[in-house]
Amino acid sequence: MAVSALRKSSTEYLQKCSKYLFAASRSFNSHLNNEQQEIRESVRLFVDEHLKPNASKLDLQGRFPFDQIKKLTDLGYMGACVDPEYGGLDLDYLSLAVAVEELSRGCASTGMVLSIHNFLYANLVNERGTPEQKELFLRDFTKGHVGCFALSEPEAGSDVANIKTTATRDGDYWILNGKKSWVTSAVEGSASVVFATFDPQLKHKGLVCFLVPFDLDGVFRGKKEPIMGVRAATACDLTLQEVRVPHGYLVGDVGEGFKIAMHQLDQARIGIAAHAVGIAQSALDTAINYAKERVAFGKSLTRLPSVTDRLSDMCIMIESARLLTYRAATHVCTKNSAMAKYVAGRNATAVADHCVQILGGRGLSTDYDAERHFRDARGTQIYGGVTDVQKRLVGHFLLKEHDAL
Ligand SMILES: Cc1cc2nc3c(=O)[nH]c(=O)nc-3n(C[C@H](O)[C@H](O)[C@H](O)COP(=O)(O)OP(=O)(O)OC[C@H]3O[C@@H](n4cnc5c(N)ncnc54)[C@H](O)[C@@H]3O)c2cc1C
Repeated sequence: MAVSALRKSSTEYLQKCSKYLFAASRSFNSHLNNEQQEIRESVRLFVDEHLKPNASKLDLQGRFPFDQIKKLTDLGYMGACVDPEYGGLDLDYLSLAVAVEELSRGCASTGMVLSIHNFLYANLVNERGTPEQKELFLRDFTKGHVGCFALSEPEAGSDVANIKTTATRDGDYWILNGKKSWVTSAVEGSASVVFATFDPQLKHKGLVCFLVPFDLDGVFRGKKEPIMGVRAATACDLTLQEVRVPHGYLVGDVGEGFKIAMHQLDQARIGIAAHAVGIAQSALDTAINYAKERVAFGKSLTRLPSVTDRLSDMCIMIESARLLTYRAATHVCTKNSAMAKYVAGRNATAVADHCVQILGGRGLSTDYDAERHFRDARGTQIYGGVTDVQKRLVGHFLLKEHDAL
């Protein structure tokens, strides 16, 4: 859908729901331009209608959000930042981050699927792909096919330069052998960005990046991993056995794989930070709604200072994470992305913990949303790069800025 059409549909939404929007607007408008605000409002309304009512059921059943992703595809969001020539909306990263935040507020799993498809797959093909690659690996992926990013391996997660999947040149082909792990959406997806090494001795300088369709001979997808949170999203192993990949599917130059992976992770961390902010916002909404209704010691929970303190902490943590996330989306660099992910992941975990506490015993019940927010929040400190490494990255670039490495 073109941006003008998006704007038209959001204007219609705005007219229908001005009262709701006034109540729901939050304090970041001044940093979003008109188009970004309209995207936020239209996605927010979409979420309240199509995601929020189904999130708990999808989570309990561990069922991929096919219908929701189909609707988002129809709205153009599976190619949010992609060139319109290939069916995309050509939005900026901040608009995509705002959409991911809102989607994750309604259903963390749907937000994660859309975030990874865009920030780690579609944006990479859009920005780095050749015209032939875009024809094969982008056009259909803005129209319903889901794309993945396979970097992690059973023996190498944070330690990217140590990946063991091999790429051996054979004329016009490369032969891939190895095993990838935790590939989000690979169960349902159609292709993946895959990283391998052509010479393990070279460590990060030996990495290469390919686009690999899942229907090639020798590509095997494992079973869906049973996970604690974002349970409607899927992740599985990807085994590559003598997979013959045409040289034309190589992204960038031989030896450039590490640089491509790191660059893409800078983007992905904006997406995961936005996803964490959305989960945290939902936890705060859940807590406030509950606290207003629940009576203890003759008054509503909101009249208890300790509960108000918790709600204030939650608000402060969310707003600060949101600011860092939006800043990272407008000025993309490793330090900004790492800082945003570090703060947003930790804050979402702490906010969801407060939410469980405010709901008391019901905070632990699967009949209420608090425990789902708690489980969903925790993963945001792991996938896309663990919190501990984000802190190290901030330290590295801080010292570099001060010529102190
Ligand atoms: C739900 C889910 C979805 C995922 N999706 C994808 C995907 O689509 N594509 C993909 O490629 N991967 C994906 N991953 C993998 C994810 O990115 C890795 O799990 C993550 O990068 C951490 O790697 P690891 O699990 O091997 O942990 P390790 O690297 O073994 O780290 C374990 C712990 O050791 C410590 N540690 C390790 N190294 C350092 C360091 N240098 N400095 C400080 N502390 C350190 C930290 O405390 C860390 O938490 C996904 C994972 C999950 C759970």
